[in-house]
Amino acid sequence: MRAAIYQEAGRVEVHEVPDPRILEPTDAIVRVVRACICGSDLWAYRGVIQRPAGSRLGHEFIGVVEERGAEVRGVGVGDFVVAPFQWSDGSCPACRDGIHTACVHGGTFGAAGTDGGQGELVRVPQADGTLVAVPGGAAAVGPELYPALLALSDVAATGLHGAVLAGVREGSTVAVVGDGAVGLSAVLGAHTVLGAERVILVSSHEDRAALGRALGATDVVSARGEEGVEAVLAMTEGLGVRHVVEAVGTPSSWAMCIGMARVGGSVGAVGVPHTAPQLALFPVLRKHLSIALGIAPVRRYLPDLVARVTAGWTAPGRVFDLELPLEEVADGYRAMAERRSIKTMLAA
Ligand SMILES: [Zn+2]
Repeated sequence: MRAAIYQEAGRVEVHEVPDPRILEPTDAIVRVVRACICGSDLWAYRGVIQRPAGSRLGHEFIGVVEERGAEVRGVGVGDFVVAPFQWSDGSCPACRDGIHTACVHGGTFGAAGTDGGQGELVRVPQADGTLVAVPGGAAAVGPELYPALLALSDVAATGLHGAVLAGVREGSTVAVVGDGAVGLSAVLGAHTVLGAERVILVSSHEDRAALGRALGATDVVSARGEEGVEAVLAMTEGLGVRHVVEAVGTPSSWAMCIGMARVGGSVGAVGVPHTAPQLALFPVLRKHLSIALGIAPVRRYLPDLVARVTAGWTAPGRVFDLELPLEEVADGYRAMAERRSIKTMLAA
């Protein structure tokens, strides 16, 4: 089969690799229908973090089950499935608490020794605890649903999780810092899934702000830093916002979040802090803030979100603004690294 292989910073290539085989009776083999490139894939591509040369890439994919191990019961051959970006057994204490991304038998697609989503086939460990089948099988899933279903494998659920961590409820006012695919998905999740009334998006890119408005943002703040914080305070009678979603993970985005949070407010963070932000805790103490961080347990949200998509909710797929064949994956990395694409979808 063909798969995207990481070579070095700035270089991703597609090569022929051996087809995956069932290794454990709990495995399934999935033929990828669509995959995508994640903002987090860009950290190694940009040389910010190290990644072994020759490793597979990609952790977001949808596809059709081609083979299953002897103990797999929950999904069958021919099922159209959505995979969360990490696999999980669904039965350990962490999974039972809904924190599937801390599963004792879990792991991430594309990590050393595993298949990545950016390829033609993927061996999925713990298939029963991981994959969610779309009702009706492959015949019931038209291409018009692919972008939305694919978005559920990471960004749609990750953005929603940020809003959940921030305590967003029906009627809430929430601010989202970050206008990448996760931030935009947080806007959508807060607005559509959780019922927030006012959603303030911090975005200095006009095209992303426009998409944010289409996904449910009621206000856009284009200024950054102190100026951005002042703008949000001015919109909220000087009080700040009770619920803030951090979807970037840098020291400056954290400073904005803490600055615009209202006394007694909550910050829910899903931006991956690769640059090790130094979090100043005194302002958090002084403002009585609750701060929650977590790698989104996408699997927890999938059954509900898949049902919404099959009922016609295509909005999550709007974060994709470029589609390429797998063979041209390198162009997708370049487009996202140069911020010409919010998120690139790959057809295997
Ligand atoms: Zn588990």
